[in-house]
Amino acid sequence: MKKYVVAAIGFLLLWMVSVNTSCAAGAPVKGEQPVIVIDPGHGGENLGTEANVSFPGGIQEKEMDLITAKAMYEELQAFDGVTVYLTRDSDQDLTLKERAEFAAGVDADYLFSIHYNASEDHDQFGAEVWVPLHAPFNGYGYQFGSILLRDLEEMGILNCGVKTRQNDKGKDYYGIIRESYAREIPAFIIEHCHVDERRDTSYCDSVEDMELLGRKDAHSVAKFLGLKSEKLGVDYSSHALAEVDSGNTVPITIQDTTPPSLCLLEILKTDEEACTISAHLLAQDQESPLLYYAYSLDGGLTFSERYAWPGTDCLSGTADGVLEVELTIPSGIQPHVVFRAINMYGLWTDSNDYLSEVVFQAPASSEPDEVRESAVETMKEIKYDLPQTKEENLLSPGHMMGIVILSVVLIALLFGISCVITVMKNHHRQGRNR
Ligand SMILES: [Zn+2]
Repeated sequence: MKKYVVAAIGFLLLWMVSVNTSCAAGAPVKGEQPVIVIDPGHGGENLGTEANVSFPGGIQEKEMDLITAKAMYEELQAFDGVTVYLTRDSDQDLTLKERAEFAAGVDADYLFSIHYNASEDHDQFGAEVWVPLHAPFNGYGYQFGSILLRDLEEMGILNCGVKTRQNDKGKDYYGIIRESYAREIPAFIIEHCHVDERRDTSYCDSVEDMELLGRKDAHSVAKFLGLKSEKLGVDYSSHALAEVDSGNTVPITIQDTTPPSLCLLEILKTDEEACTISAHLLAQDQESPLLYYAYSLDGGLTFSERYAWPGTDCLSGTADGVLEVELTIPSGIQPHVVFRAINMYGLWTDSNDYLSEVVFQAPASSEPDEVRESAVETMKEIKYDLPQTKEENLLSPGHMMGIVILSVVLIALLFGISCVITVMKNHHRQGRNR
């Protein structure tokens, strides 16, 4: 009997341990302990983006990626029971295939590729995470990306979502994801922020900033895997992951290939003397949320910088689609307003236009300066930089007066010369007649 009791207790204990293991939070790993590969993007001849505008003396992306990756490596090493590798720890040329092969060689559970971003027109800002197309890797990527992007969002970096991109063969567009997938390793690309846009540059314009982002990455990986660190005094073992359907691609991560279906502008109020226009914009996109908006005051020839679409959440896919904004119009121009709604995949639709019948003109210094300053202050966020060429075409009252005086002098001079010529001709003729 005693034997049976001992066996029953033993069985119960075993069952409890096994239940505990299967309930433990954290993404799945192959072995007893997770093996992580950190891949600093680019290296050697492959420089990455060189568009950095804020780092003193300039810096290439490959260097930034390495600084961040090394900080991530150091921090992740401080967690218990995790093995971490770097694909490169110096300025070294590596193909994407070599990186994936390295990860396969160490039997990695996950690969994290470290990058900084830049856009062709230097008009995008925010962080994004690129993940594999197919389940279940796609879902793991969404779970990890959600953790990291929320953390970066808290710092003030715009959350541009967890995304997929496919090539014309229907495979993963990005080589590191494709090559890793071929070796059964989920690889995720972290694009921390844009090195060429003023809203992002303050997050990556020093070595300390780049290291801070690396530590954020490490903690996001630790949360994703449910790790704890005695050394750091943190325990993420019960950190909950976003719920995903392991058999299907997470819908919000599916690439949107069409622009917003609707972008409707309505002018609520115009004030020619205060130089303001209140506008209401209604935009819709069924597949991906609206991420940015911009506006034009010259009928769509040039656009303002982009602004984050308020109320959008790229992780849940929610966007209220309605924007109310007051534009400040530079005095002396006749605004021709067009808005642009841009979705999470960078595709846009322009609104109907509104052409003012009058030139907006602030009364010359009739307003007290203080009032005008405070108005400018509230409008700062949506200030429109008039294109250089336009500004040159505009004439101030001072210029106009100068031109009038010059014209009068010229006419007088011409009149004088013609009088002298007439007199001389008459004199000549009289001489001949004589
Ligand atoms: Zn890169």
